[in-house]
Amino acid sequence: MERSEIIIGGDTAGIEWRVPVFRFKGSDSAAPSAYIQAALHANELPGTALLHFLLEGLQKAEADGAIRGDITVVPQANPIGLAQYHFGEMEGRFDLGSRTNFNRDFPLVALAGRDTLLDKFESRSAADRLKRTLLHTALGADLVLDLHCDDESLQYAYIDEAFWPEAADLASALDMKAVFLSDGESTAFEEAVGHAFKRQGGDKLKSVPGRLAVTVELRGRRDVYPDMARHDADGLWAFLAGRGVVADPAHEAKPYAGPAVPLDNIEMVKAPEPGTVLFHRDIGDEVKAGDLIATLIVRPGEPGGTLAVTAGHDGLIATRCSARYARRGDDLMKIACREATRRDRKPGTLED
Ligand SMILES: [Zn+2]
Repeated sequence: MERSEIIIGGDTAGIEWRVPVFRFKGSDSAAPSAYIQAALHANELPGTALLHFLLEGLQKAEADGAIRGDITVVPQANPIGLAQYHFGEMEGRFDLGSRTNFNRDFPLVALAGRDTLLDKFESRSAADRLKRTLLHTALGADLVLDLHCDDESLQYAYIDEAFWPEAADLASALDMKAVFLSDGESTAFEEAVGHAFKRQGGDKLKSVPGRLAVTVELRGRRDVYPDMARHDADGLWAFLAGRGVVADPAHEAKPYAGPAVPLDNIEMVKAPEPGTVLFHRDIGDEVKAGDLIATLIVRPGEPGGTLAVTAGHDGLIATRCSARYARRGDDLMKIACREATRRDRKPGTLED
């Protein structure tokens, strides 16, 4: 294992960011290579815990001669966000300096244009340099996994239709409860990787066998526990074994049995008015259209001061917000439905 650091100079004097990168050299040049990063949204730490244990396993595998393809691991990808404590809370999602999401505004280039990501490097902001360096590193691999988490959430992933159903092996290896099939039309890290992979040569490819770009949502932000992280690391190991990145004679593939639904089928349940949230249903619950899922206390103590929020469609509650006060229009839940829930969705991601 080789440990190095991405070093990014800060936007003010005296600041320097360091991002540890772990690399394993594969024994078989024909084996697929993998790039795995965690905590690009710096406050989403289940992936960092997972990679801590996966790195232990990979070092053992290296000693046993079981690393077949090159593997690059960045367990804590965003030191800029990690340092942004604001009134006692980490702001790990948005760069305070530019108010941009750390997982948006990745440059979209074709695979052949990979090196252009580093053009005019010194004149770019620290957050932009971080994004470009991570993307440049990732585009050197065949399989790219970006580990995130949701607020309160089941295990699920956003997977571009170009990599489906081949990527069902990842969904089964990580015991995902749902897969959201995305259109890849935004500027998240995974979408920038997918954009490049779909443009390996000339025209945009509809499907890209042997490659993968995925955003894994490793449950909720508080789901950071030793047994869970070890279990997820075992799952990721099984995925790598199935793809031939590592050698594991004991590996057995298992089918994925959960739902895979297009983003148009995700019902984003929003608060129609501001209020204190009383949830009646939890993540993992199956609901029917019309079921009461939350009560909003909009005018406490007053007659008629509550508002019922019901499910619009039959489906599986995949995520729930952890805040118990909702502003008007805040997202309360994502429900994975069996039918399209809307026709007006803009291409790209569900959230800002
Ligand atoms: Zn995230």
